[in-house]
Amino acid sequence: MAQNGFLEQKPGFATIAIHAGQEPEKWKSGAVVPPIVTATTFKQPAPAEPIEFEYGRSGNPTRNTLEECLAALEDGKHGFAFASGLGAATTIYSLLSAGDHVVCCDDVYGGINRLFRNVVQRMGIEISFADFTNLEKVEKVFQANTKMVWMETPTNPMMKVIDIGAISKLAKKRSSDIIVVVDNTFLTPYLQKPLNFGTDIVVYSLTKYMNGHSDAIMGAAIVRDDKLAERLRFLQNAMGAVPSPMDCYLVNRSLKTLALRMEQHKKSSLIVANWLKKHPQVLSVMHPGLPEHPQHELARRQMSGHSGVFSFVMAGGLKESRKFLMSLQIFILAESLGGYESLAELPSLMTHASVPAEQRAELGITDSLIRLSIGLEDPEDLINDLEHAFKATFSK
Ligand SMILES: *Cc1c(COP(=O)(O)O)cnc(C)c1O
Repeated sequence: MAQNGFLEQKPGFATIAIHAGQEPEKWKSGAVVPPIVTATTFKQPAPAEPIEFEYGRSGNPTRNTLEECLAALEDGKHGFAFASGLGAATTIYSLLSAGDHVVCCDDVYGGINRLFRNVVQRMGIEISFADFTNLEKVEKVFQANTKMVWMETPTNPMMKVIDIGAISKLAKKRSSDIIVVVDNTFLTPYLQKPLNFGTDIVVYSLTKYMNGHSDAIMGAAIVRDDKLAERLRFLQNAMGAVPSPMDCYLVNRSLKTLALRMEQHKKSSLIVANWLKKHPQVLSVMHPGLPEHPQHELARRQMSGHSGVFSFVMAGGLKESRKFLMSLQIFILAESLGGYESLAELPSLMTHASVPAEQRAELGITDSLIRLSIGLEDPEDLINDLEHAFKATFSK
């Protein structure tokens, strides 16, 4: 359902989440809930003639069930599950070779930033960061050897919205071989489907909204193109960053309530953001669902709404931010996002501490910038908690 002029959500999402890949006929028992298959190897009736599976790293029935569901939700064709979001990223960048060049958005997840700067560059792959909300700046950093474009939208923690279609077009105009990757962790396919805007690979930290219960670390990649899928399937097995069947079961189970959860995260986060923006101790609120957000119009064309994560700048400095965060009673002071429980954190010292100080300053990640992940509690209680923390911080 569209709200406030956002992109219409295609009907059938909840049905796909519940049924795609979950056919009871798959299992001899007719199990309605896909079983957790823990076997690491599978009997072959004749040498090198496996029935369907041979070894747990190359394929597992529980994992395949999840991968099918992920591909269907994304309007994709092939899904790949990994041991973590960074495991998925590591496998995706392994599509590249020494001498290749990557163009990456500047305000990218701290762990991806660290992976690119401290690991990928050491492998002889060049990376250029650019502000992806400025197409001219992006165009300038492309090189003859650019082979991949990596973006995340909305960005973290500044909540800038990037025009996926425009960036994909820019890349493909230079060469159809450039692989465009979108990290869709913050929105999930319920709120944004990057493959429909010219993206080649959608990457996830399933750890966040997709699992939504803060009890499994996992990642995924989803593609349409068969050839690209073959390369990823090879790397998934060759590199081995695969998840356990137990965790696949958890995430597959969680997808059944994804539509309901995202709908509530969307509503509650807008209620809290609207309250914060009127608060005297709040200087600004970065939330793409607010009309004053600089890319609000783009957000409405590209997204079906915004999730529960957003940031705001509060009055004071590090002392006040610390006091505020430590005074919260319902919001838990912790990294991560996307669970049923509300979280609050200080990106400058926590999630983005690994981003070099000068890049943090450039982006506006100050000690007064707070990031919230609005969970599924009653929004009135969350507002009361924030009000209590402001009072504890600012009243004598
Ligand atoms: C958490 C996160 C990752 C990394 O995923 P892990 O599952 O923690 O390895 C990547 N991208 C984004 C946007 C994230 O929030």
